[in-house]
Amino acid sequence: MITVNEHYSKLQASYLFVTIARKVKEFQDVNPDVDLIKLGIGDVTKPLPATCVDAFRKGVDEMADEGSFRGYGPEQGYPFLREAIAKNDFTGMGIEADDIFISDGAKCDTGNFQELFSIDARVAVPDPVYPVYVDTNVMAGRSGTWKNGRYEGLYYLEGNSANGFIPAPPDEKLDLIYLCFPNNPTGQTASHDQLALWVEYAKKNKALILFDAAYETFIRDESLPKSIYEIPGARDVAVEFRSFSKTAGFTGTRCAFTVVPRECRAFTTEGDAVQLQPLWNRRHSTKFNGVSYPVQRAAEAVYSPEGKQQVRELSDYYLGNAAIIRENMEALGFGCIGGENSPYIWVDGKRDSWAFFDLLLSAGVVVTPGSGFGRCGEGYIRISAFNDRNKVLSAMDRIKASIS
Ligand code: PLP
Repeated sequence: MITVNEHYSKLQASYLFVTIARKVKEFQDVNPDVDLIKLGIGDVTKPLPATCVDAFRKGVDEMADEGSFRGYGPEQGYPFLREAIAKNDFTGMGIEADDIFISDGAKCDTGNFQELFSIDARVAVPDPVYPVYVDTNVMAGRSGTWKNGRYEGLYYLEGNSANGFIPAPPDEKLDLIYLCFPNNPTGQTASHDQLALWVEYAKKNKALILFDAAYETFIRDESLPKSIYEIPGARDVAVEFRSFSKTAGFTGTRCAFTVVPRECRAFTTEGDAVQLQPLWNRRHSTKFNGVSYPVQRAAEAVYSPEGKQQVRELSDYYLGNAAIIRENMEALGFGCIGGENSPYIWVDGKRDSWAFFDLLLSAGVVVTPGSGFGRCGEGYIRISAFNDRNKVLSAMDRIKASIS
């Protein structure tokens, strides 16, 4: 008898996006003339930078010519891209091309990395959270059942107004710790000192940090770390995930990478250190067959002088939207986090998340209720800056009219 993985039955339906879609449909059925402005989604709206498009096209032309055609590439990614990343993104941090694994998305990598660890690893996830970290551990069997809005057996790192949505390491012993800065959904960023506490904790407890830096491109404050490897000793205890999705508008093009430094380790049950890089290399090359050559050429173009300027303009544009949103929401008396080194603004709605969602929907603006990202998100909404400037300005006018 073929039996199913019953851990899947513990998974909660994506109540958040299903409910948003239903409420939007109900609103539009009654108000067919209202052109809704959607500030709920985390998808980019601007096209690929011109220099990436040129490199993409050149890559396609090479594939069309018998002399330059390429079949399977290295599973880990082409050296030209791995080298460009190590040189440009991790200057002076001791990261080399061999530490970098190219993939088709940080979603897959953050979801897949847990496969390297034992089933009884004690997993810590943030609350509020990017749901992939949670669901993939539930699927793997590292949780109990769902009770009162949480999975038993997972440790939730609570974010709240008291800690500014930056959880500090707890006294308990944890093995696998997911951190995400700039954060989705809160837009919060962490300082060197705050990350250093986690690195110290991981060393002391023989734990591992999975650091999701998918939004690092939005950091403008030079005092903030863009990579966890800016913290001394982090190469031993942290894996970092990055993506071209938000950096260069690659959400539909697909290219990302994971950094597994050669020093990074986990342990056998006897306590012997095991290098993670060969394990991830084995997993990646067994289950993944590489990102397409033209896409890797397009990603490489991000690091050319023109590419650097064009991706900076892209993130400047979204950060301009974020500043408008934050300024307007604060002027209306709402406390905000994020929106300064991040494309997300986390707004304290001073009421139930869904009540605030409904109020803004009635004004013709769609946002995301914070409670959908975890129990600690109750009372908040997430507003995304990924949209057209004029739409953002109109959305702010609509919100002002509905609140004041
Ligand atoms: N990590 C976080 C925190 C995200 O918000 C997202 C996408 O929204 C991803 C990873 C996924 O990135 P990718 O498009 O590379 O799969």
